[in-house]
Amino acid sequence: MKTMPSVMRLAEKKGRLFSLYEEFERRVAPFRAQAVCVKGCADCCIQVGTVAATTLEGMVIREYLEGWSRPARKAVRQRLHANRREKLTQVFARCAFLDEEQACTVYPVRPFSCRRLYSVKTCGDQGPVIHRRAMALASRTIEVLQDLDPAGCSGHLSFILYLLEKPEFRRAYLQGVWNAENFQELVERYQLTLHTNRSGQGRSSPPVM
Ligand code: SF4
Repeated sequence: MKTMPSVMRLAEKKGRLFSLYEEFERRVAPFRAQAVCVKGCADCCIQVGTVAATTLEGMVIREYLEGWSRPARKAVRQRLHANRREKLTQVFARCAFLDEEQACTVYPVRPFSCRRLYSVKTCGDQGPVIHRRAMALASRTIEVLQDLDPAGCSGHLSFILYLLEKPEFRRAYLQGVWNAENFQELVERYQLTLHTNRSGQGRSSPPVM
């Protein structure tokens, strides 16, 4: 079957993705031990600008959502639609995956931009404060994540999921042949970073210490 190698490659990439998450979490654990973050605080899901994701991370989240009930999927699609509209006109927008108890409904598959965040001071209006070395580690990990997904792109999570909803994009992406020119309008409107000519990905940078 023609698509089999791509599917297999994708499975391998997903495995590598989670290994990278684990490696990052292990290396930042000493820094994170000083975090003041508490359960129920969702400042970083509401007030930190872009919740960035790669296409590979988007594929993982899509797969996770397939396990949800039809009404739950419909509800999140509506929230993602609203989130896309908000993000086009304002910097901050509550993440579509945050529930009413301020918990992440895709926590096991949340993207790296969520995993890298913590704060050693209560965020408030100032946003999170993160150790400089943890920030540097996160920046290097982002580069590796993008290298892992060379046929893809990065951008705000709801934009990436929107792109992945398009069968023609998904097919081309999985076969490693998608041409940005065919989706130029979306790439520009959503300010996506193509991994072939990447120059950075992520939320607006928090202060460091
Ligand atoms: S994906 Fe989850 S952790 Fe990330 S911003 Fe959304 S609700 Fe928060």
